[in-house]
Amino acid sequence: MQLIDTHCHLDAAEFAADRSGVIAEAVSAGVALMVVPAVEAGCFDAVRALAAAEPRCVSAFGIHPLYVEAAGEEALDALAGALRAGGAVAVGEIGLDFYVEGCDRALQERFFAEQLRLAREFGLPVLLHLRKAQDTVLKHLRRIGGAGGIAHAFNGSMQQANEFIRLGFRLGFGGAMTYERARRLRDLAARLPLDAIVLETDAPDMAPAWAAHSRNVPGHLARIAGMLAALRGVPIEEIAARTTANARAVLPRLGPAIDALAPAHRARPPRARGPHRDAESG
Ligand SMILES: [Zn+2]
Repeated sequence: MQLIDTHCHLDAAEFAADRSGVIAEAVSAGVALMVVPAVEAGCFDAVRALAAAEPRCVSAFGIHPLYVEAAGEEALDALAGALRAGGAVAVGEIGLDFYVEGCDRALQERFFAEQLRLAREFGLPVLLHLRKAQDTVLKHLRRIGGAGGIAHAFNGSMQQANEFIRLGFRLGFGGAMTYERARRLRDLAARLPLDAIVLETDAPDMAPAWAAHSRNVPGHLARIAGMLAALRGVPIEEIAARTTANARAVLPRLGPAIDALAPAHRARPPRARGPHRDAESG
């Protein structure tokens, strides 16, 4: 089984003490690759360094809507520079968050639009954060266009989901789906075309039901995949194969990162029938 965590913040301070261990644990749970989106210019270097040091991690650069008020204009220049330097699989985490009372919506929209334009310029998909802002996000996507991407932690209606899909997006499902009370979200996870779904943890946030109130880790992804399999009544292997294919389709730059892992992955060749072995068994 090979899973892809399309959204986890492994650069976060919560992982400072045991980052490599958390990654190793995820890998042994079947997570082949982890996408680490930056949330502000101040963490671009850390995200880049993490992706360079850990072959299981790939980077995305962006300015999160809840960080735009602290960011200056120079943050957008820093983003353009980070994208120019290469290595990113997407622009993210970007989007709109109108949930927080008193936020500067106009400023969020300006940063979002600018970052969508940068993504289009660099031919990169986007990793979207959207809360209480689905229709405004869709409006900007329709206006600016681009290479699609992932609507992370999707929690909209079926109609909105279909509109994202039409615009070339996959929808990210993770910890929120594991709560029994999340009926509408679970219904969506069960009924959406499987081709539209990718998996994510959003670690260290959005802990799943079985680890509520504790730090979330990418290693939970296998059980999240299991829950999606149960909701849809299909084998977990099918969920793993299809969501991984979906992630690769929408984030084409994951391909080289996965291919680079191949030699380490490959189990011992099945026909290891050299003379040495024959001698041993004889
Ligand atoms: Zn996030």
